[in-house]
Amino acid sequence: MSVLNEVLESNEAYAADFGSKGELALPPARGFAILTCMDARLDPAQYAGLREGDAHVIRNAGGRASDDAIRSLVISYKLLGTKEWFVIHHTDCGMEFFTDDVMRGLLAQSLETAQLGADGFTDVGTGPGSAEAAYIDWLTISDQSQAVVDDVARIKAHPLVPARIPVYGYVYDVRTGRLVEVPAATEAGRAA
Ligand code: ZN
Repeated sequence: MSVLNEVLESNEAYAADFGSKGELALPPARGFAILTCMDARLDPAQYAGLREGDAHVIRNAGGRASDDAIRSLVISYKLLGTKEWFVIHHTDCGMEFFTDDVMRGLLAQSLETAQLGADGFTDVGTGPGSAEAAYIDWLTISDQSQAVVDDVARIKAHPLVPARIPVYGYVYDVRTGRLVEVPAATEAGRAA
């Protein structure tokens, strides 16, 4: 059962009440960007109080500072003027539950959805899979706080990122909805 019609119906209702949002400017009005995880439980508009036009939100698995996330952040300041950035990971992130080797093994076996049990992910599909997964760095997480520090530090050290931009490091708690600062990350992200 596809969600296609549900999504299109929701969009119909949204567009019917669009109001003056059609006049919003391209650069984000509040001048900041958030890099965060794609986890379905996280809604940056809700947890950070965003409305359309306010901020850039860059999402990927884990909210990691991948080359592509940095590409977006560079565009965000260089062309669209953002002045402060957040890296926001979260508790109970799926990226903590596997390693590159596990992911490569699962995909080598089949392209079916794996099952998550007490011992981690196991493959239940029939093949064929693919060895292509060996060529991807899955950017998994073994230490939640350290991953935030690492990502903030990588962004700050990037030659295309100016020292004036502060990068704040936080972990969103999926049980409380609260943003918890990772002080070492914010320290690493201090503007110079
Ligand atoms: Zn996550």
